[in-house]
Amino acid sequence: MQTIPQTDPKAGYLAHKAEIDAGIARALDGGWYIGGAEVQAFEREFAAWAGTAEAVACGSGTDALVLALKGLGLRPGDRVATVSHTAVATVAAIEIAGAEPVLIDIDEFYCLDPAALEAALKAPGATRIRAVIPVHLYGQPAAMDRILALARAHGLKVLEDCAQAHGATIGAKKIGAIGDIAAFSLYPTKNLGALGDAGVIATDDRGMAERLRALREYGWRERYISAEAGMNSRLDPLQAAILRVKLKHLDADNARRQAIARAYDEGLGNLPRLITPAVRPTATHVYHQYVVRHPDREGLRERLKAAGIGTNVHYPAPVHLQPAYQGRTPIGPTGMAVTERLLPQVLSLPMYPQMTDADVLRVIAEVRRAVG
Ligand SMILES: *Cc1c(COP(=O)(O)O)cnc(C)c1O
Repeated sequence: MQTIPQTDPKAGYLAHKAEIDAGIARALDGGWYIGGAEVQAFEREFAAWAGTAEAVACGSGTDALVLALKGLGLRPGDRVATVSHTAVATVAAIEIAGAEPVLIDIDEFYCLDPAALEAALKAPGATRIRAVIPVHLYGQPAAMDRILALARAHGLKVLEDCAQAHGATIGAKKIGAIGDIAAFSLYPTKNLGALGDAGVIATDDRGMAERLRALREYGWRERYISAEAGMNSRLDPLQAAILRVKLKHLDADNARRQAIARAYDEGLGNLPRLITPAVRPTATHVYHQYVVRHPDREGLRERLKAAGIGTNVHYPAPVHLQPAYQGRTPIGPTGMAVTERLLPQVLSLPMYPQMTDADVLRVIAEVRRAVG
């Protein structure tokens, strides 16, 4: 039997191959290979989909975070609060932008714990915290009501890291339209993925969007004249053409992810020692990952591998324990107890929209067998 992979970006291409190939041909024939009309069309279509006034495309999700932080006007020595349980890119971006990360523990939904943020905002040095980056991890929104209330009370800017949650909602609003500004990764395996590196920033602030369009290209307002010091992080029309096709199918793809998650919930919900994902009331989860917990994670992983079921660990180490950041990056006053307790148990099951119903049933049967 063929192995069911944990994720399958090629299947995402093949599902829309004719449309994507036509988009690529159009971009190549256009004769314009950086920026231009195709990128502008993607920005308009993405903003309309996200529910923000503006979208600014760039080279990666990491760059989207860096540009957004620069756009918020952070200065050297400023601190930015975020989680340790995230893709390292979130923390790397804070340092690349010249600020200092302060790492905060998570709640039972794997996202920034508002109570731990509140404690950090009362601790010594808190006045240097100028912004907070909630990460909507695995496809589930962070506790934005409480985080926004704390941010307003303490004068912090809120940058949403939406890299794993394109289309997740809280009430009637999509994430990315809730904080001051939002960064999305369009890495191939994300819910909306290019066929290469790409990222996009969403904001309602038109002045900010103009500033970001300058910052992503050397700070140019006028060609060859830098009004301020910027960087190079541009999207190319090839990726924009591909993303315009993928964006049309994103809502259907997310609905398929949710249907797979419902089947997993039903098939795996009552097994001994296996914990399926909890969903925050009033939020919708778009299941970038379907993450279970098990005390013998490595044993379970081995048994599933032998049965032809691909899994992955997101992530093997929290950022504060990785060599580059260990002992250097300040941790909030409540510590990392939840992060360090949950992380050794997390396992991501196969999750991508092109999984067949038969694939889903096979994963359920093998997980049931593997947990015994
Ligand atoms: C993928 C990801 C990023 C970085 O995106 P790249 O496009 O790989 O630079 C940032 N934050 C989170 C939470 C991610 O999952």
